[in-house]
Amino acid sequence: MSKMGCTCGHSIIDRTDNVPYKGHLIKDQDKDVIFEGIASDVSLYIESLLTENQQEWLNRFPWLQGKDHRAVVWGIITQYYLKYIPHIYECENCGRLWIQENRKSQKFRSYLPSNPEIKGILRSDQLS
Ligand SMILES: [Zn+2]
Repeated sequence: MSKMGCTCGHSIIDRTDNVPYKGHLIKDQDKDVIFEGIASDVSLYIESLLTENQQEWLNRFPWLQGKDHRAVVWGIITQYYLKYIPHIYECENCGRLWIQENRKSQKFRSYLPSNPEIKGILRSDQLS
C-alpha cells in the first residue's frame, strides 16, 4: 500500500520508512509461530556454522547463501515478517485505524476510536 483513502476523505500515504502513523500487528495466535520459527531457524543457522555443515541450512534458505551473519538473521526475520505480520495505519485526520486483513491481502478493515481526540497511537514511544 502506498496510498489509501480514509472514509473521512484524508489520504494515508506510505512511501518512506519510520512512518509515525503506521504499525505492524502481531496476532496472538501467530506469535508463537513467529518467535519459535525465528528462534529455530537462527539456531539451525548457528548449528550449521558450528558444525561447518551448511547443506541442510542452505536447502531451506538458498537465497541467503554467501550473505554475512547480520544479513542472514535479517533475512530469516523478514521471512516471518512478510508472511505473518499485517500492517496497520492510523488516519492522522480522524484517528481511524486501518488494519490489513492478512499479510497477503490488500483489504483493510477500519476501526474508529470512541474518542475522536485519541490520535497518535502508532507513534514511537522511543522517539518522544
Ligand atoms: Zn480519516
